[in-house]
Amino acid sequence: MSEDTTSEDERTYRHLHVEDAPDAPSLTDHKYELDEAVGAREFGFNVCDASEGQLLPWGRHHHPDHEEVFYVLSGELAVEVGPEIEAETLRVGADEALFVPPGTVNRAVAAADGTRVVAVGAPKASDGAVVEEHCAACGEPTGRDYEVEEDGGVYVLYCAGCGAEADRLVVGPP
Ligand SMILES: [Zn+2]
Repeated sequence: MSEDTTSEDERTYRHLHVEDAPDAPSLTDHKYELDEAVGAREFGFNVCDASEGQLLPWGRHHHPDHEEVFYVLSGELAVEVGPEIEAETLRVGADEALFVPPGTVNRAVAAADGTRVVAVGAPKASDGAVVEEHCAACGEPTGRDYEVEEDGGVYVLYCAGCGAEADRLVVGPP
Protein backbone atom coordinates (compact mmCIF):
# COMPACT_ATOMS: atom_id res chain seq x y z
CA MET A 1 0.00 0.00 0.00
CA SER A 2 2.96 2.35 0.53
CA GLU A 3 5.40 3.88 -1.91
CA ASP A 4 9.09 3.09 -1.78
CA THR A 5 10.81 6.39 -1.05
CA THR A 6 14.36 5.06 -1.15
CA SER A 7 16.63 7.21 -3.31
CA GLU A 8 18.60 5.54 -6.11
CA ASP A 9 21.88 5.62 -4.19
CA GLU A 10 20.21 4.02 -1.16
CA ARG A 11 19.05 1.02 -3.18
CA THR A 12 21.05 -2.03 -2.29
CA TYR A 13 20.80 -5.70 -1.43
CA ARG A 14 18.22 -6.44 1.21
CA HIS A 15 18.29 -9.81 2.87
CA LEU A 16 15.70 -10.73 5.44
CA HIS A 17 13.55 -13.48 6.85
CA VAL A 18 10.09 -13.49 5.27
CA GLU A 19 8.43 -13.27 8.67
CA ASP A 20 10.38 -10.10 9.46
CA ALA A 21 8.65 -8.26 6.57
CA PRO A 22 5.70 -6.02 7.51
CA ASP A 23 2.56 -8.05 8.21
CA ALA A 24 -0.27 -6.24 6.39
CA PRO A 25 -3.96 -6.30 7.25
CA SER A 26 -5.61 -9.27 5.53
CA LEU A 27 -8.26 -11.97 5.94
CA THR A 28 -5.47 -14.55 6.35
CA ASP A 29 -3.26 -15.38 9.33
CA HIS A 30 -0.42 -13.32 7.83
CA LYS A 31 0.34 -11.33 4.70
CA TYR A 32 4.01 -10.50 4.54
CA GLU A 33 4.70 -7.67 2.09
CA LEU A 34 8.15 -8.60 0.83
CA ASP A 35 7.92 -6.08 -1.99
CA GLU A 36 7.49 -3.21 0.48
CA ALA A 37 10.21 -4.59 2.74
CA VAL A 38 12.86 -4.71 0.03
CA GLY A 39 11.73 -1.63 -1.89
CA ALA A 40 10.69 -3.47 -5.07
CA ARG A 41 9.09 -1.03 -7.52
CA GLU A 42 8.29 -3.05 -10.62
CA PHE A 43 6.56 -6.11 -9.20
CA GLY A 44 4.49 -7.10 -6.20
CA PHE A 45 5.70 -9.97 -4.01
CA ASN A 46 3.56 -11.06 -1.06
CA VAL A 47 3.61 -14.19 1.08
CA CYS A 48 0.35 -15.29 2.69
CA ASP A 49 -0.05 -17.81 5.50
CA ALA A 50 -3.64 -19.04 5.63
CA SER A 51 -5.85 -21.51 7.46
CA GLU A 52 -8.61 -23.51 5.79
CA GLY A 53 -11.45 -21.30 4.60
CA GLN A 54 -9.57 -18.00 4.66
CA LEU A 55 -9.90 -15.74 1.64
CA LEU A 56 -6.87 -14.31 -0.21
CA PRO A 57 -7.03 -11.36 -0.39
CA TRP A 58 -10.31 -9.41 -0.75
CA GLY A 59 -12.65 -11.78 -2.53
CA ARG A 60 -13.74 -12.20 -6.12
CA HIS A 61 -11.78 -9.69 -8.16
CA HIS A 62 -9.77 -8.96 -11.22
CA HIS A 63 -6.85 -6.71 -12.05
CA PRO A 64 -7.49 -4.89 -15.35
CA ASP A 65 -3.81 -4.36 -16.18
CA HIS A 66 -1.75 -6.53 -13.84
CA GLU A 67 -0.69 -10.16 -14.15
CA GLU A 68 -0.05 -12.55 -11.27
CA VAL A 69 1.41 -15.93 -10.41
CA PHE A 70 0.35 -17.78 -7.29
CA TYR A 71 2.93 -20.32 -6.14
CA VAL A 72 1.73 -22.65 -3.38
CA LEU A 73 4.59 -23.67 -1.07
CA SER A 74 2.44 -25.75 1.30
CA GLY A 75 -1.20 -26.62 1.79
CA GLU A 76 -3.68 -26.03 -1.02
CA LEU A 77 -5.60 -23.21 -2.69
CA ALA A 78 -9.08 -23.54 -4.13
CA VAL A 79 -9.36 -20.87 -6.81
CA GLU A 80 -12.73 -20.12 -8.35
CA VAL A 81 -12.05 -18.83 -11.84
CA GLY A 82 -14.44 -17.17 -14.26
CA PRO A 83 -16.89 -14.29 -14.14
CA GLU A 84 -19.85 -16.12 -12.60
CA ILE A 85 -20.46 -16.93 -8.95
CA GLU A 86 -20.15 -20.73 -8.61
CA ALA A 87 -17.51 -20.67 -11.30
CA GLU A 88 -15.11 -23.52 -11.98
CA THR A 89 -12.78 -24.25 -9.08
CA LEU A 90 -9.12 -25.09 -9.66
CA ARG A 91 -7.22 -26.91 -6.90
CA VAL A 92 -3.64 -25.68 -6.67
CA GLY A 93 -1.51 -27.84 -4.37
CA ALA A 94 1.98 -27.62 -2.89
CA ASP A 95 4.70 -26.98 -5.47
CA GLU A 96 2.07 -25.96 -8.02
CA ALA A 97 1.62 -22.54 -9.60
CA LEU A 98 -1.30 -20.73 -11.21
CA PHE A 99 -0.93 -17.86 -13.68
CA VAL A 100 -3.73 -15.28 -13.62
CA PRO A 101 -3.74 -13.06 -16.73
CA PRO A 102 -4.92 -9.44 -16.57
CA GLY A 103 -8.69 -9.04 -16.67
CA THR A 104 -9.55 -12.57 -15.52
CA VAL A 105 -11.71 -13.01 -12.44
CA ASN A 106 -10.67 -15.19 -9.54
CA ARG A 107 -11.51 -15.88 -5.91
CA ALA A 108 -8.89 -17.79 -3.92
CA VAL A 109 -9.59 -19.63 -0.65
CA ALA A 110 -7.15 -21.67 1.42
CA ALA A 111 -8.29 -25.31 1.27
CA ALA A 112 -6.07 -26.54 4.10
CA ASP A 113 -4.52 -25.29 7.32
CA GLY A 114 -0.86 -24.36 6.96
CA THR A 115 -1.27 -22.99 3.44
CA ARG A 116 1.61 -20.73 2.39
CA VAL A 117 1.36 -18.94 -0.94
CA VAL A 118 3.71 -16.61 -2.77
CA ALA A 119 1.84 -14.09 -4.94
CA VAL A 120 3.92 -12.26 -7.52
CA GLY A 121 2.37 -9.61 -9.73
CA ALA A 122 3.43 -6.93 -12.21
CA PRO A 123 3.49 -4.12 -12.98
CA LYS A 124 3.31 -3.05 -9.35
CA ALA A 125 2.00 0.40 -10.29
CA SER A 126 -1.20 -1.10 -11.72
CA ASP A 127 -2.08 -3.56 -8.96
CA GLY A 128 -5.49 -2.01 -8.31
CA ALA A 129 -8.24 -4.61 -8.06
CA VAL A 130 -11.87 -4.47 -9.13
CA VAL A 131 -13.74 -6.43 -6.47
CA GLU A 132 -17.18 -7.91 -7.07
CA GLU A 133 -18.46 -10.05 -4.23
CA HIS A 134 -21.87 -11.19 -3.07
CA CYS A 135 -23.07 -8.84 -0.29
CA ALA A 136 -24.68 -10.58 2.68
CA ALA A 137 -26.62 -7.41 3.57
CA CYS A 138 -28.26 -6.40 0.28
CA GLY A 139 -27.95 -9.73 -1.51
CA GLU A 140 -26.40 -8.18 -4.60
CA PRO A 141 -23.05 -8.76 -6.31
CA THR A 142 -21.33 -5.46 -5.55
CA GLY A 143 -17.95 -3.75 -5.46
CA ARG A 144 -16.09 -2.77 -2.33
CA ASP A 145 -14.98 0.56 -0.92
CA TYR A 146 -12.51 0.60 1.93
CA GLU A 147 -11.23 2.77 4.73
CA VAL A 148 -7.96 2.52 6.61
CA GLU A 149 -8.20 2.68 10.39
CA GLU A 150 -5.80 2.55 13.32
CA ASP A 151 -2.82 4.01 11.44
CA GLY A 152 -3.01 1.38 8.73
CA GLY A 153 -3.53 -1.59 11.05
CA VAL A 154 -7.13 -2.26 10.00
CA TYR A 155 -8.84 -2.06 6.60
CA VAL A 156 -12.63 -1.97 6.63
CA LEU A 157 -14.41 -2.98 3.43
CA TYR A 158 -17.88 -1.66 2.66
CA CYS A 159 -20.43 -2.78 0.10
CA ALA A 160 -20.40 -0.18 -2.70
CA GLY A 161 -24.10 -0.84 -3.22
CA CYS A 162 -25.71 -0.57 0.23
CA GLY A 163 -22.80 0.66 2.39
CA ALA A 164 -22.90 -2.27 4.82
CA GLU A 165 -19.58 -3.32 6.36
CA ALA A 166 -18.49 -6.40 4.44
CA ASP A 167 -15.12 -7.36 5.91
CA ARG A 168 -12.62 -6.17 8.47
CA LEU A 169 -8.99 -6.94 7.65
CA VAL A 170 -6.58 -7.04 10.58
CA VAL A 171 -2.89 -7.76 11.09
CA GLY A 172 -2.34 -11.35 12.18
CA PRO A 173 -4.92 -14.14 12.52
CA PRO A 174 -8.53 -12.90 12.13
ZN1 LIG B 1 -24.71 -4.53 -0.02
